Amino acid sequence: MRSRQEASKLCVKFWGVRGSTPTPQRENLGFGGNTSCLEVRGAGDEILIFDGGTGLRQLGIALLKEFKKKKFRAHFFFTHCHWDHIQGIPFFDPLYRDENEVVFYAPPTPNDLRGVLMGQMATPYFPVNFESVAIKRSFVQLETGPVKCGGLTIHSFPVNHPQGAVGYRVESAGKAMVYATDMEAGNERLDGIVRDFSQNADLLIHDAQYTDQEIKMKRGWGHSTWGEAVQAAKDAKAGQLILFHHDPSHDDQFVREIVKKARRKFDHTKAAREGWFVEL
Ligand SMILES: [Zn+2]
Ligand SMILES: [Zn+2]
Repeated sequence: MRSRQEASKLCVKFWGVRGSTPTPQRENLGFGGNTSCLEVRGAGDEILIFDGGTGLRQLGIALLKEFKKKKFRAHFFFTHCHWDHIQGIPFFDPLYRDENEVVFYAPPTPNDLRGVLMGQMATPYFPVNFESVAIKRSFVQLETGPVKCGGLTIHSFPVNHPQGAVGYRVESAGKAMVYATDMEAGNERLDGIVRDFSQNADLLIHDAQYTDQEIKMKRGWGHSTWGEAVQAAKDAKAGQLILFHHDPSHDDQFVREIVKKARRKFDHTKAAREGWFVEL
């Protein structure tokens, strides 16, 4: 990703866009079968990774290829600790090499991030213990204020999701992107917070897991409809809306239909696609 983003202020690469569970079947691969993982870079050397779903495996391979023997430091931000947002961590190859460094930012939710990452690699779930991996690592507890990574400023805000989750707004040199996945619209207070943090974002990546029909059975499961994502983009006066966290049952054709309908209400709408690179 380095060479393409040299001059850009903020860019995002989508490594995993699927919600809930990986869906590697052929009819889903146009948009992608890996679960949530985004790579975000600014104009400097910072590497930000949002969520460690199964898409993270390919990102790990790409980073080792890009940096070869050079050291890098990656900053991991998690929205929450559901499986589809952490399951790629044990398969992130840089974890097993000592020349690199990772900083794990724990979201301000009741979860103990270090305990969760240790737990998913503990006996009998995984052959290698998290505490024994070679990479240099540290943990930072996110508080209510923003965090700076080089030229990038990262704000976190609470969203409506079972067991708690956060969204992020990343700013760099006048550009802004918002990552608001795993959030169910309909909670007045939390919807207001999302609206405030999303104002005038150039890019709004929003949970759009369900249709109006599907959500009737799935209220309280922690996800929004594509219609609610469209409304959030309008309310925020966002530049572009990216529908994200595609339901495992939605194949490529279904997602394309959703995009078509969403564009009638908000023209600048796309569906997140694995491997896609956006430069702001
Ligand atoms: Zn999820
Ligand atoms: Zn979740």
